[in-house]
Amino acid sequence: MCIFCKVAKREIPARIVFEDDDLVAFHDINPVAPIHVLVIPKQHISGIGEVTADQAEVLGKLLVAARRVAEDAGLMPSGFRVVINHGQHAGQTVHHIHVHVLGGRPLAWPPG
Ligand code: 5GP
Ligand code: ZN
Repeated sequence: MCIFCKVAKREIPARIVFEDDDLVAFHDINPVAPIHVLVIPKQHISGIGEVTADQAEVLGKLLVAARRVAEDAGLMPSGFRVVINHGQHAGQTVHHIHVHVLGGRPLAWPPG
């Protein structure tokens, strides 16, 4: 079982900020911004490169939850970024799809 499946099943600890039947959101263990939360589906999907049309509903829920996480963290006035990394060039390290919600400081664009 992958590490984020274990987070979803609460087999390893995480600072969870939101959970429903389909999703879990929790603080990144190695934050790169003052707010850095990951939103994952409880269902194992390995990455954005593997998603299929029948997963559209849960993918939409990930983005709605990302908005909620940003709002609850007080990021709406200042702004925030939502990121999904896939594969080597994007630096994906965990092969369970996750949405990064980043904020609390100015974020450079384009990313390095
Ligand atoms: P990726 O580079 O795959 O898009 O992002 C994976 C993220 O997961 C990284 O930011 C990393 O710090 C985070 N991460 C890896 N293992 C754990 C863990 O066990 N717990 C938490 N909370 N975050 C983790
Ligand atoms: Zn998984």
